[in-house]
Amino acid sequence: MATPLLGHVDPAFLAVMDETAARLRAVFETTNPATFAAPGTGTAGMETVLANLLEAGDRIVVGVCGIFGGRIREQAERVGARVETVEAPFGEAVPLDAIAAALEREPAAAVAIVHAETSTGVLQDLTGLGELCRSKDALFLVDCVTSLGGTPFPVDRLGVDGAYSCSQKCLGAPPGLSPVTFSPRALAKFAARKTKVASWYLDLGLLLNYWGGDRAYHHTTPISIVYALHEGLGLLLDEGAAAAHARHRRVQEFLIERLPAIGLDPFVPASRRLPMVTAVKIPDGVDDLAVRRALYARFGIEIGGGLGPLKGKVWRIGHMGYGAREEYMLAALGALRELLARG
Ligand SMILES: *Cc1c(COP(=O)(O)O)cnc(C)c1O
Repeated sequence: MATPLLGHVDPAFLAVMDETAARLRAVFETTNPATFAAPGTGTAGMETVLANLLEAGDRIVVGVCGIFGGRIREQAERVGARVETVEAPFGEAVPLDAIAAALEREPAAAVAIVHAETSTGVLQDLTGLGELCRSKDALFLVDCVTSLGGTPFPVDRLGVDGAYSCSQKCLGAPPGLSPVTFSPRALAKFAARKTKVASWYLDLGLLLNYWGGDRAYHHTTPISIVYALHEGLGLLLDEGAAAAHARHRRVQEFLIERLPAIGLDPFVPASRRLPMVTAVKIPDGVDDLAVRRALYARFGIEIGGGLGPLKGKVWRIGHMGYGAREEYMLAALGALRELLARG
């Protein structure tokens, strides 16, 4: 990020953008030409996908089993879509047969679902959803904000039509950019819009023009964050995506094996556990906030609390990107052992 700044249409910077987009295609495992980094964090990527691919009155089926599925619903509603949610309790995954049933009942323009629900620690099985959406002529939209780079997310093989991630989770760069990818089917739906996209800043046509078209000025891209994302992707591809995925799994197993010794149990069963966030149950009688505050104040370690209905019930231990290392897990385990023994 200390690389000297270039102008946003400097030919040398455009070359960095092109290479960043090529690296994103490699990490997304896609040949989609419409793959780039939208300005803003993961939430802006969500809005880029939903605001461009939905029009007022479109029906969308949204899987909700945590905070981020709820955010998709909220954004889709603001675009004016008719939203039907398929819900599961926090800690569980969205049942795929219920999504199929929702599409069976009435056609939908799109299905949207979160791959890695960071708020609960649950990994969503996506098997068959791409085929199902294609057979029902619905776009298949996926939030891979937390999963991309930490677990396989092969866009083309899964039949995903629109996906968004962020620079700061498993891609290991600072926040500020949201990698997005759009399939040819998604672009066709976009081209057939009857109304202009309500967001000028996140208008796909304007963004594509800057990232791959005539490179016309649209907004001043956050140059230093593009450098950082370019480097984060380079490090990931040097390690090898498969090796990075295996490292996330290995570090999680390292953590899980050592939890019983300090009196903690995982909240999510192994079959649907996210490999980059481990949710653990807070033991009875333990003060959630007091432990997290002491962990930070005395040991400089931050872990997440529970969100929504899981507030006060779970802690979320992150091991994403560069943070997926045994030494960090040992530090967290040691500090928690000390604090829980005193509690
Ligand atoms: C973090 C996150 C988001 C939002 O990303 P921001 O970068 O915080 O805007 C969306 N979805 C999921 C699953 C996330 O974990």
